[in-house]
Amino acid sequence: MKILITGGAGFIGSAVIRYIINNTNHSVVNLDNLTYAGNLESLSNIESNTRYFFEYADICNAVELERIFSECQPDAVMHLAAESHVDRSIDGPAAFIETNIVGTYTLLEATRAYWNTLDTDKKAAFRFHHISTDEVYGDLDGPEDLFTEDTPYAPSSPYSASKASSDHLVRAWQRTYGLPTIITNCSNNYGPYHFPEKLIPLVILNALAGKALPVYGDGQQIRDWLFVEDHARALYKVVTEGEVGETYNIGGHNEKANIDVVKTICQLLEELVPVKPDGVAKYQDLITYVLDRPGHDVRYAIDASKIERELNWKPEETFESGIRKTVEWYLDNKQWWSRVLDGSYAGERLGVF
Ligand code: NAD
Repeated sequence: MKILITGGAGFIGSAVIRYIINNTNHSVVNLDNLTYAGNLESLSNIESNTRYFFEYADICNAVELERIFSECQPDAVMHLAAESHVDRSIDGPAAFIETNIVGTYTLLEATRAYWNTLDTDKKAAFRFHHISTDEVYGDLDGPEDLFTEDTPYAPSSPYSASKASSDHLVRAWQRTYGLPTIITNCSNNYGPYHFPEKLIPLVILNALAGKALPVYGDGQQIRDWLFVEDHARALYKVVTEGEVGETYNIGGHNEKANIDVVKTICQLLEELVPVKPDGVAKYQDLITYVLDRPGHDVRYAIDASKIERELNWKPEETFESGIRKTVEWYLDNKQWWSRVLDGSYAGERLGVF
């Protein structure tokens, strides 16, 4: 199988590519336009593999997409390219509308045109897998409620509204044109190679530098944390075994309040890096409460029983084991994150392209 993966230089996309190259015989074409969130250094362990190819392209560019489909002849598309950071969507929603909505539309149309050229067997076997978020469902009222695949959409932020729009487009392309699509909606991911603007890597790296650990509002917002390598395994199961037209929710059964996540990281650092930056007595002393994000959803939690039941997938990591692996990875991979922090990961691409 040859799989075209959009957004493969990002956090989750790179985990999916590493998983497929290391665990299967399939080929992967990584289509990415390397925004600030795209980092080819996350793929340095597999980039020389002969089953891995990179295409520098924008999903909004219909001409480029047509060329790539015709040259690559993929058997499946896994669509992860997106603008993904909620805070950025509040400050500047335009890029989210462009990439997440117009880009998904342009990719769907390019996929449809290519799919229509396939013979009957290949057409039936083809899959367009759209990777989305549980944030499309808005937030949960009761402490016991869970998002199921039937929960109505009620997005709160420009990011989640743009992802909800893209989900609707994908469903419409399946219903209207018969394109064999599958959608997955997953909870907050964490793990190695996570861009340091997101909560968990930000807290780890700020604590190591003796900087403030910012926590929105009272820190009681609850997220269901999913280790990125568990997610990559789930996505591979869905694209190879999932039912066309279906949606699968993917979650880690790890509901944690943000403040507890931050405190857990501080405790791990006390154990793993007892020698602290100057002037820091305890990492936890660095916690600083900041003004809450507008429209901040209070609680997300996923009912992942459908994918567990139908595709026999289960997360392997608990939050405790996954967060320890993550902190250890950041301690062992200073070169990766220091090149992100100083911007040199992005400078290098100017020489390549
Ligand atoms: P990310 O921001 O780390 O990576 C996005 C990637 O897409 C980058 O490599 C970027 O260069 C690329 N990209 C952006 N715009 C593009 C364009 N116009 N053309 C081509 N490539 C483009 O994102 P992520 O955290 O890896 O998330 C991947 C997908 O999973 C997204 O669709 C996101 O909405 C979804 N998701 C993420 C999470 C999470 O916790 N990170 C949770 C649920 C769903």
